Amino acid sequence: MTKKILVLAGDGIGPEIVTEAVKVIEVLKKDGLDVSLEDGLIGGASTDAYGEPLTEATLKQAKSADAILLGAVGGPKWESLDIAIRPEKGLLKIRAGLELFSNLRPAILYPQLADASTLKPEVVSGLDLMIVRELTGGIYFGQPRGVETMENGERRGFNTLVYTESEVERIARSAFEIAMKRSKKLCSVDKANVLECTEMWREVVESVAKDYPEVEVSHMYVDNAAMQLVRAPKQFDVMVTTNMFGDILSDAAAMLTGSIGMLPSASLDANGKGMYEPIHGSAPDIAGQGVANPLATILSVAMMLRYTLNEAAMADRVEKAVEKVLDQGLRTADIYSEGTTKVGTKEMGDAVVAAL
Ligand code: NAD
Repeated sequence: MTKKILVLAGDGIGPEIVTEAVKVIEVLKKDGLDVSLEDGLIGGASTDAYGEPLTEATLKQAKSADAILLGAVGGPKWESLDIAIRPEKGLLKIRAGLELFSNLRPAILYPQLADASTLKPEVVSGLDLMIVRELTGGIYFGQPRGVETMENGERRGFNTLVYTESEVERIARSAFEIAMKRSKKLCSVDKANVLECTEMWREVVESVAKDYPEVEVSHMYVDNAAMQLVRAPKQFDVMVTTNMFGDILSDAAAMLTGSIGMLPSASLDANGKGMYEPIHGSAPDIAGQGVANPLATILSVAMMLRYTLNEAAMADRVEKAVEKVLDQGLRTADIYSEGTTKVGTKEMGDAVVAAL
């Protein structure tokens, strides 16, 4: 059956980079990919048109789609608006509305770009790891929370780290499924020596592991994981962790690669439906200039092929095409270095299409 992809280009460089990613999808369609594309508005573009960053109609469109390809939202034009109608609210609303609890953040460093990292090339060159972050639970959502004034007049702030067994089980399953599609190695990150909630996390991960005997599972305390990520990141393949630990570790992992314009992401629900987007924002400083790097968005399409459309061979093809243009020495301004050829957004997209 034809799968439906909703394309939400958003603001700033969003429309420029999404145009290039759509070109890639169009090529694959000619080669048999059975998808149909629909457009919608999100973020500032939606606020301008409808007075809100995500309308109920667009959310309905998203619910009926199999996958969503998102550019980026936000920009100075909307920063003075009431917080309820700021572009970023559109993102939160769509993530919550679709129950996207599993956030996949790969950190891939192509050997061609090893110099972009602040770490030594031999430590990071060829890095390819996936952090699976729980996105809709944990301390960011737990109750009770707040700041109260005690009898002695001193203030007391508190948040609650809370997970149910079923919440841990579904994110663990999501991570095991991903490990099965990669090198069958999974590291679960917790703080089981101090936090009872994550002691239970570890037990649940162990029990889910019984359904995936082929996957080699390990457990690591978060402080050690942070240290290992900068010491020897290539020891990891898939990592799964809580919302807050994942927030911090995935940003650190992303920065190991040094190039924000290269990193895709996915957020999945329990049935594999997903929203795919680059990790960067709308880059208002370069919007409209035709210089943005479209590769993170094109690599988001590869993730969509792998995780929602179950077209692993096509995902490989897109990733190989990206490697090929890097091998050809083509670079957008953000990844440019001496001796390579500087190209714009459209030329980069065209080069990937040609390499496909
Ligand atoms: P940003 O990621 O947009 O930009 C940070 C820096 O990286 C800028 O110098 C930018 O030019 C550069 N950059 C980002 N993507 C690039 C690309 N593809 N090619 C070349 N260079 C690129 O972050 P910011 O400046 O902090 O935020 C700008 C706006 O984006 C804000 O309104 C913010 O709220 C929004 N934002 C949106 C998302 C999202 O849509 N998921 C994520 C982060 C920030």
